[in-house]
Amino acid sequence: MRVTQAEFIISAVGPDQYPADGLPEIALAGRSNVGKSSLINKMIQRKNLARTSSQPGKTQTLNYYRINGELYFVDLPGYGYAKVSKSQREQWGKFIESYLLKRELLRALLLLIDIRHPPTRDDVAMYDWLSHYGIPVCIVATKADKVPRGKWQKHVKVIRETLFVRGGDPIVVFSSETGQGKDELWSLILERAGK
Ligand code: GDP
Repeated sequence: MRVTQAEFIISAVGPDQYPADGLPEIALAGRSNVGKSSLINKMIQRKNLARTSSQPGKTQTLNYYRINGELYFVDLPGYGYAKVSKSQREQWGKFIESYLLKRELLRALLLLIDIRHPPTRDDVAMYDWLSHYGIPVCIVATKADKVPRGKWQKHVKVIRETLFVRGGDPIVVFSSETGQGKDELWSLILERAGK
């Protein structure tokens, strides 16, 4: 995919702020620091459009990026950050849940997992919840450059087994440093978005 246009549209705090142009949406979720902003920047070939999070886990907004006038990336707040209070976590849950359950334009969710470590309890809970509601997920194993290529499949297997990944949900090995997995991820996104 050649990205010729990528714009930040809005940090939405409620449904009335979601874009009204009917373009398909691809959401991105993952623990704080998993590499979400870096992945967005790499996918759209920008150094710094998705700001690398200065206050991890504290921005309770849905950040909309419009790409080539064809689809949106919807960056969800990072979860599982230790310093976020219990009430903030519950707030996270409600806000995101209603988006994920009610947004008809949502075509898939990219769930980012650091390839170096087994998924956490938060990751498992997130994936279980998405599976329960039948939301199509694409798992992205991030920071692949930090693991030797020969060990990728071993790490992918741990992710697959810890999450009990459903048959139809792909796992893409990705690196924002090297661009590994970028083309594969774009193909999956465009397919899900019906492009
Ligand atoms: P976010 O909190 O999920 O948005 O994570 P960021 O994109 O801000 O990344 C967190 C940290 O991990 C930063 O220091 C990034 O430079 C680093 N990082 C992100 N992706 C990669 C990657 O693919 N490879 C390497 N080596 N570092 C990465």
